[in-house]
Amino acid sequence: MGEPHPATVLNVNDDDANRYLVNRLLSLAGYNVVEAATGMGALLMAQQHRPDVIILDVKLPDISGYEVCERLRANPQTAAMAVLHTSATFVTSDKKVRGLDGGADAYLTQPFEGAELIATVKSLLRLRHAEQVARQRANALAEMDRRKDEFLAMLGHELRNPLAAIMTAIGILERRPTSDDKEARMRGIIQRQTNHLARLVDDLLDVSRITRDKVELRPGSVDLVPVLRQVLQIVQPMADSRGLGLDVSLPSGPLWLQADATRLEQVFTNLLDNAIKYTDAGGVHLRAEQEGVGGAAQAVVRVKDSGIGIPPEVLPHIFELFAQADTSLERSRGGLGIGLTLVRKLIQLHGGEVTARSNGPGHGSEFVVKLPLDHTMGKSAPARDAVDLRRGRRVLVVEDNSDARQAMRDLLELWGHQVAVAPDGLQGVALAMAQPPELALVDIGLPGLDGYRVAQTLRAQVGNGIRLVAMTGYGSPHGRDQALRAGFDRHLVKPVKPDELDRILSEL
Ligand code: ADP
Repeated sequence: MGEPHPATVLNVNDDDANRYLVNRLLSLAGYNVVEAATGMGALLMAQQHRPDVIILDVKLPDISGYEVCERLRANPQTAAMAVLHTSATFVTSDKKVRGLDGGADAYLTQPFEGAELIATVKSLLRLRHAEQVARQRANALAEMDRRKDEFLAMLGHELRNPLAAIMTAIGILERRPTSDDKEARMRGIIQRQTNHLARLVDDLLDVSRITRDKVELRPGSVDLVPVLRQVLQIVQPMADSRGLGLDVSLPSGPLWLQADATRLEQVFTNLLDNAIKYTDAGGVHLRAEQEGVGGAAQAVVRVKDSGIGIPPEVLPHIFELFAQADTSLERSRGGLGIGLTLVRKLIQLHGGEVTARSNGPGHGSEFVVKLPLDHTMGKSAPARDAVDLRRGRRVLVVEDNSDARQAMRDLLELWGHQVAVAPDGLQGVALAMAQPPELALVDIGLPGLDGYRVAQTLRAQVGNGIRLVAMTGYGSPHGRDQALRAGFDRHLVKPVKPDELDRILSEL
């Protein structure tokens, strides 16, 4: 493999005769030669000519060759240049060491043979070339990785919209009684699989965040107990379908945390999901309790199963991205290998820790989550003025996706509301001004006037009597703050689950 030609060599020496000699040797060998007689001159030439190799005499009249080398290394533009130190006859080995430690790539003691010099320059060029190739490869990989992350994020977004519409539609179907067993079964399948799909999409979106350290929390005062109950509701059908018992032990009182409820739900859904998925017989235990007192008090949640267990060699890596114990081809329980990475990251962001235990294959697994308790929260949050928004209200839905709009309308009508709908922000505002609703559900990503502007306009024109709920895609981590600033009372992340909407309406 030949080095890129013609390479440029900067020859730095204050001894004119010596410099001339080396210049000639280099020229004869076919290199472009530039020269300098001082240390400062060398730095200047290095900037200007971007040499591939610098032959740098250690003893210079102004700053020493060592210092020149250090300065070259400190400047990103010159850092990658190969430096060959040269020095006069008598050099102790500690000086050589100092030069090499200071960042030089090679050392030659004068007088040296011409052939030795050229061979050393050649070898440095080869090294440099290899480094360049490696760097380019690393850059290309990083770029591909970044694009992959972007692609995953975009894919997740695109998948969310259709999912949102499907989930709302399912919510409606579910509320309609059926006496047909088969239909009920089919509905069950659709619902479970859609929920599963929604979780995969969530995970997919999160993975690009984790890799870029962009996972953010939206913390508030949260009682962990209802969060766990909610999660149990989600996973119960899956446990039933696998014929597994879910044994639950929750404390009678609350476990207050400063936490992001949605994220906690995600954590425990993942853990319980896994426990069920990786267990064929027996059951899954969920136990939550308080341990310790005062400032050291923490909520401890154990998810234990009697399943396939985790081999000891896999256990230390189980929380790493894409880690999977089962690498067999069929991977019948298949997932993406993202869940546990997310779990750990989210728990860490909450100031907690998660550990995994297993007595090995066939002996079940246990995951233990510890979260600091928020001891400032003694009582439940004060209830705001109690208006029941759950029945018979005037509701406006502003949503540009027609399926999602229709499904939301059907759902709200089913709950007994009078519903008006608008496909974009301008029409939404016009409708609201003509007949002010009591509640407006507003998508943020609207054509023309976006959801934030809709909220600002409604607050300005219609006033504070109206309750505003934002519905956003998953994109912006600041979504919630921005929504609250724009005047929204609440913020929901799509796909909006009917239960969640019901809860929000009851809270408002
Ligand atoms: P996924 O389940 O999507 O593969 P996770 O990150 O949730 O990804 O889990 C990573 C791996 O850890 C799984 O593939 C599985 O091998 C192992 N694992 C997780 N939970 C359990 C469990 N409760 N029992 C046995 N193995 C588990």
